Amino acid sequence: MILQFNIEDKYGYKEKISPEEIVSFTKKNGFKKLVVFARDGWGRAFYKSKIYPLHPSVDQDFIEKLKQLCEVNGIKLVLMVAHTSNKYLCEKYPEIKQINKDGKPICLDTKIIEEIEWPLACLNSKFKEIILKEIDEAKKYTNALMLDSFRYQPEEYRQCFCENCKKEYKKQFGKDLKPSSEINEEYFNKMFWRYKVVIERLKEIKQKNIELIYNSHPAGWNWRNNTIIELGSEYIDVVFAEASETDFTPLGFLSLITKLNKDLSKKEVWTSRNLFHLFNTSKYPGIDQVSLNAFEILFSGGIPLFTIFYSTFKADGNKIDLKELNTHLEIAYSELSKAQPYKEIGIVFSNTTRDYMGYKDVKLYLNDIRGFFYSLYYNNYQINFIGEKNLSEIKNYDIVILPSFACITEKQAEIIKKHCDKTRIIATYNTSLFDEYRMRENFLLSEEFGCSFKTISKKTFYLDTLYPQGDLIIVEPNSNKYVLKNIYNSKYSNGYEYVLGMSSPPKDENIISYITGNRIIYIPFQLGSYLYKYGYCEYEKILFELIQKEPIVKCNQNIRIFVFKKNNSLFLGII
Ligand SMILES: [Zn+2]
Repeated sequence: MILQFNIEDKYGYKEKISPEEIVSFTKKNGFKKLVVFARDGWGRAFYKSKIYPLHPSVDQDFIEKLKQLCEVNGIKLVLMVAHTSNKYLCEKYPEIKQINKDGKPICLDTKIIEEIEWPLACLNSKFKEIILKEIDEAKKYTNALMLDSFRYQPEEYRQCFCENCKKEYKKQFGKDLKPSSEINEEYFNKMFWRYKVVIERLKEIKQKNIELIYNSHPAGWNWRNNTIIELGSEYIDVVFAEASETDFTPLGFLSLITKLNKDLSKKEVWTSRNLFHLFNTSKYPGIDQVSLNAFEILFSGGIPLFTIFYSTFKADGNKIDLKELNTHLEIAYSELSKAQPYKEIGIVFSNTTRDYMGYKDVKLYLNDIRGFFYSLYYNNYQINFIGEKNLSEIKNYDIVILPSFACITEKQAEIIKKHCDKTRIIATYNTSLFDEYRMRENFLLSEEFGCSFKTISKKTFYLDTLYPQGDLIIVEPNSNKYVLKNIYNSKYSNGYEYVLGMSSPPKDENIISYITGNRIIYIPFQLGSYLYKYGYCEYEKILFELIQKEPIVKCNQNIRIFVFKKNNSLFLGII
């Protein structure tokens, strides 16, 4: 398994940091790979560089010594390079700074204490040539290089409008690069161009013949980097799914992002479990927490990567003993490498829909995905993701869910139609209602759904004992035989004061919409979002009624089972 050892301090430590103590910790805990900075976010190198000053806490042969010690101890060294945060270079060449639409420098700092510590350098500036030289320097020590923070972001409020970007945009599109005053084609063109810039840089870096590991931060940065690993996968060897959110997200989060990144990129995925608690970074959370998370990662198809800060190492390093855990993980890993995950339920994930539908707030799309995932996960179904580019994978599953899969091309619709008789497909809400951001008059899959689009209602509605509060699509059944459930109007919009507005209002007798099913089952609201937000078992009841299938391996919710196929038998990972 992998150790990421981050020297994160601004001023350096009083004493020098020795390569011996790092390698000794790595070895003692049974790690086979060690990831360290070659150059940090302040622009300081941990080796003698022609580009950067030396980090104040290390000797100039720090990386050279690390390399030698790793070789002697059978540890593979990975160096983190080309961090887009680079204070040293941004001060030396102010013209390379990323500049936002208000003319301010874009930085990583979430809170600026005295001054900006981590200004970002622009990937369209001469920084792009400097990082190639930086990579040449780092390559002398190892061929495995990680882009741990490579940020040039697509959302309007984080986009770069520096002179370099303006020049490049004009060159490519013949238009001025300006902040958008409305949401139109130009708005999205700018957003998607940002992805292309990142992918272009990845391509240049990959041409250096290195093993390229890319931090996708799958649930960070509004989940948008999942587009990079899908579109740029030919330049990436390993996806690093940084998972710092683990300490404040539901159990199953690590499984979700590991599977998502693996299924979108088709690459090896390293998923992180910090050896500190996110809100107390000098404290080790303990072996129980770490083991639970590590096995969740491993059984979801990833390789656990443990991140430690130098400050954690100093404060709590002597409490950390992962040797036995790493031995167990290695054994399980070697067994799993001969097995295939059992394909039971596929959830289609569309980066395009996330960007169009979630341009203002990605939750409008993501909550529908998350709700289905967690609900099925807790009920021990085997779940994988299907990227919008790989829809023909639908045929590998018994059941496929299309949560709010709004933006569908005609070609994609054809693939879905081709597989919807053999695979049970369930679609929600605005699935197939959009061609990119243009709304269609009717669902592209109207015939398969057995209903037609009428309008979107903001009213509270009523289904059995439920009153989902959110947008409801009003549909008209194409024939009464396709109606699976009636959706009624509710008498009032809110529940009672005593239950914080959460109780069901009484049912009106007017039917306002329907759950329908011809060749595809159609739910006219975001069932996944309600599962995610409220998690009522009544919502799950609807889901299980519609999927009509028990999990391949059943057990209670305190145990999570991961099922694999190995030769002709099933192989279980149990947490
Ligand atoms: Zn720029």
